[in-house]
Amino acid sequence: MKTHNFSAGPCILPQEVFKEASESLINFDNLGLSVIEISHRSKSFVAVMDEAVALVKDQLQVPDTHEVLFLQGGASMQFAMLAFNFLSENGKGQYLDTGAWSAKAYKEAAGLGSAEVVASSKDANYNYIPKGYAIDDNADYFHCTSNNTIYGTQIKEFPQTEAPLICDMSSDIFSRPVDVSKFDLIYAGAQKNLGPAGATLVIVKKDALGKSGRYIPTMLDYNTHISKGSMFNTPPVFSVYVSMLTLRWLKANGGVEAAQQRNEEKAALLYNEIDRNPLFVGTAAVEDRSTMNACFLLNDEAAHKEAFDAMIAEKNISGVNGHRSVGGYRASMYNAMDLDSVAALVDCMKELENKF
Ligand SMILES: *Cc1c(COP(=O)(O)O)cnc(C)c1O
Repeated sequence: MKTHNFSAGPCILPQEVFKEASESLINFDNLGLSVIEISHRSKSFVAVMDEAVALVKDQLQVPDTHEVLFLQGGASMQFAMLAFNFLSENGKGQYLDTGAWSAKAYKEAAGLGSAEVVASSKDANYNYIPKGYAIDDNADYFHCTSNNTIYGTQIKEFPQTEAPLICDMSSDIFSRPVDVSKFDLIYAGAQKNLGPAGATLVIVKKDALGKSGRYIPTMLDYNTHISKGSMFNTPPVFSVYVSMLTLRWLKANGGVEAAQQRNEEKAALLYNEIDRNPLFVGTAAVEDRSTMNACFLLNDEAAHKEAFDAMIAEKNISGVNGHRSVGGYRASMYNAMDLDSVAALVDCMKELENKF
């Protein structure tokens, strides 16, 4: 029986990708060797890195002004790395505070120099995206988080600003088209829509670099990695390889536009049930609801939680517990999730209603 994996991250990837990746662990590229035992500088692996970069460029229509990198350290390392590269001694970074990840990003900039929060939804446990705030066009950069994995909110329209625009897209990259030319830096930990943990995707505008005036530790300097094609040191080979396979799968399935359609269909199915079913309530502001992570509560946990959890277990639904800071349930519906998995969850919600 199929297990429906709603985990927020690491999370579901396409079954075809798992199959091919598992074969590559024994015999990669007909070399009689595993993908994780060959040199990262071998012809076979260099081809993997090149294809992964080319697929990112193709899928997101990355303009020639931007470089695509696969780094390590997760999105969390980017919080500090971007500050070293973009925040000057006398300048300031501006932040939109939409959740725990935004706050962690802000902390790293504030520790290095001057950082400001332009707006925050912390007062409402981050259940909405602030709007109508002002960004200083002269700031060194403006930082936002496109999808707030923990709270289930998502920026639908990015702000206009003359300041360099930086975005943590860890949990919704490749889930919808994005105009990369508007951003100076986009970064994403691989483990939410792309591949296994270990690689971090970075898309950076070349012109925007070299302006912070700081000493940048070698490993934290984007230019180090640009000049070496993401091979300054040993890259996370397996994570890059599986990311490449996922990108091939995405392309074969119609690319980001088709993914967006499927994601909207899945999200609509679940949100319609959350809104219709009197036993449940959604936690995120309706206009800001994420297509990737849907957060909801039972109106009466004491009366219904035990029965609902039993139904979920019976249907082989996994990973729907809400983050500890929100409670309730969180259904993550990344690209690789099929509509039938969301339908299985919705069936449980209907069954619960019929029972009580
Ligand atoms: C998961 C997540 C992170 C943290 O990613 P790591 O790769 O574990 O550092 C950062 N930002 C967002 C939006 C996330 O969802």
